[in-house]
Formats: sequence, structure tokens, C-alpha cells
Amino acid sequence: MSTDGLPNLTDAGIKSFLETAPLYSQRRFKLPLTPRKNLRIEEIDSFCEVCDQTRPFHNNALRDTGADKAAAAMLIPQYLSTGKHSFSFSCVSCRKSIRIYMVEQIVDDRTITIQKYGQLPRGDIPRDKTLQRFLKGDRDNYEKAVICLSHEYGIAAFAYFRRIVENNIYRLLDLLLEDLKSSGGDDENFIAIQSLREESPMSEKIKIANLALPGHLKPDGLNPLGKLYQVLSEGVHNLPEEECLKKAKATSECLAFLVSELASRKEHRARFKSMIGEL
Ligand SMILES: [Zn+2]
Repeated sequence: MSTDGLPNLTDAGIKSFLETAPLYSQRRFKLPLTPRKNLRIEEIDSFCEVCDQTRPFHNNALRDTGADKAAAAMLIPQYLSTGKHSFSFSCVSCRKSIRIYMVEQIVDDRTITIQKYGQLPRGDIPRDKTLQRFLKGDRDNYEKAVICLSHEYGIAAFAYFRRIVENNIYRLLDLLLEDLKSSGGDDENFIAIQSLREESPMSEKIKIANLALPGHLKPDGLNPLGKLYQVLSEGVHNLPEEECLKKAKATSECLAFLVSELASRKEHRARFKSMIGEL
């Protein structure tokens, strides 16, 4: 099987897999050029419920087991092979919270596939608080989208996010207009956003959306509104699972970025007005 496009197996790759991969999901890597003995890594980061903040967690297991030492003493080379590996980490600050992961690895000539088959404690499903508030009228779809995303059910997640964009795009445009009005944004953006409310072919809307945002809503020139209109123009049926997963994540990010930027600007404006109004 081709190894093109597969990432190399690195400590960083294993770390991110342990931290974020859902239970029973798999990742495939190219075996590293410098052979490694096992999947062991020294540290992960996780939100510690005792310290109430994200902390490094260190590996609790001794570096070499008795068997490792015996093999080393007999000069038997050890290579990563098909089998299982368990990890146990504890928070460096409180030493109280622990993270345990069980991983199965399947090794062939050039690649390794790892699957997470156990994890304690259960991972949280991440929800964006601001987005949750903005989508409170569409809560059911957002919940389903987030759950599908957390299990990496890409096709389903993308379908739900696409529906969410469809249902809420006009509310998003309203927020944008409000922001443009109060920040004295230029007329061109204003007219563009308004014309997005009118009936026109989707290809036209994508073009308009891609030009309609003021600079502060386009981090490094990336236009989240353009991306959202792109999503509306795409059908789910032709796309492979992985592609859908990528698009679902991107849609979630674009929505979260726009909604949280607009909401915090609105809040700042209100606070400023109430302070200065009293002078
Ligand atoms: Zn802690």
C-alpha cells in the first residue's frame, strides 16, 4: 500500500492522537527512519479538573521495564512491533489527576496503524459556548453536529453543519450589518452584505461573500463568510468521509470565529457606550 501523504510517526503525532482522537478511531503513520522501541512519550497536555486549568501531564511508567532491561543486557535489538501499549500520565502540578490510554498498534514493513481502544477518564465533547448561545434556536442540530464531529462521523457532521449554516445565515448577516453600521464600515461592504439577502445564483453569492468582509473579520486575508457560502453550494453526497470531516471542522471554525468576533465587538460597544454616556 502506498505511504504517500502519510505523516511520519513522531512524539508530537502520538501526543496529539492521545489528546484528541476519539475512542476506536485509527491513525496511520509512516514508520520513522530512526527506529523506535515503542510508542512511549513523556508528556501530554490536558485540562486538569483539580488544578482547573490546562497542565502538562507526565508519563508515570518507568522508562524501561524489567523485560526491556533484560533484552538490552543481552544486546537484543528492540523494535516497535504489532501489539498493545498502555499509557498512564499524571498532572505535574497536583499529581492527583491521571490520564490513561490503551492503544493497539499494527506494524508492517513501512507503516504503523494505531487505534485507541481505552481511555480514562472519558473525554469531554467540546462545545463552543458563544456558538451554542448564537445557535440556541437550532440547538438540536448543533448538538448532533458536535457529537458526530467528536466521533469523526464526517459525512453526518458535515450534513448537520451545512443545515446549521442554511438555517442561520441570515441571522449572521444581520449581526454583520449591525457591526458595519456601528463601526462606520464602508458602503461597499454594506451593499454587498445586503445583496446576499437577495435571490441570486450561489456562485454569485460566493463571489460577493468573498469580498464583503471588512479587514478585522478576515484573519490573514482568510474570509470565513466566503467559506460558509462555499459550504452551502456543496452537496454532501459526492464527498469522501475524510473530506467531509475536514469541511465540517472548517465550517465549525468559521462560524465560531465570526460569531465570537461579532459578539465581543457588540459587547465592547455596549460597555463603551454606557461608560461614556454617563460622562
Ligand atoms: Zn492538576
